[in-house]
Amino acid sequence: MTDAHEAHLFCHRCGAQLAPGEGNWYVVRIEAFADPTPPPLEGDGDAFDVGEEIDRLIEEMRHMSEQELMDQVYRRLTLHLCGRCYRDWIESPAG
Ligand SMILES: [Zn+2]
Repeated sequence: MTDAHEAHLFCHRCGAQLAPGEGNWYVVRIEAFADPTPPPLEGDGDAFDVGEEIDRLIEEMRHMSEQELMDQVYRRLTLHLCGRCYRDWIESPAG
C-alpha cells in the first residue's frame, strides 16, 4: 500500500491528476453490506432440515476463497474524484 500523501492521485472517473492540498477534489468512501436481516424461519422447523441446509452451505463455501466470502457480505471502497466528476457523480451515485 502506498502512502496517500506521497502517491500521485488520479480521478477514478476521468483520470485527471489530483493535487493534494488544493481542495478541489473529493475522497468518497463507500461501505456496502449484505442484507443483515436474518432469513425468516419457515413454519415450526419440522419441514426444514437445518442440518442438511448447513451441509449444503458449507459445500457451497468450500469452493470460495476467504476473500470471495468477505466480498459477498462486506465491501469498502475508497474513490478519489475531481471536483467536476464528484458533482456529476453525487447527483446520481447509483446511476
Ligand atoms: Zn474527474
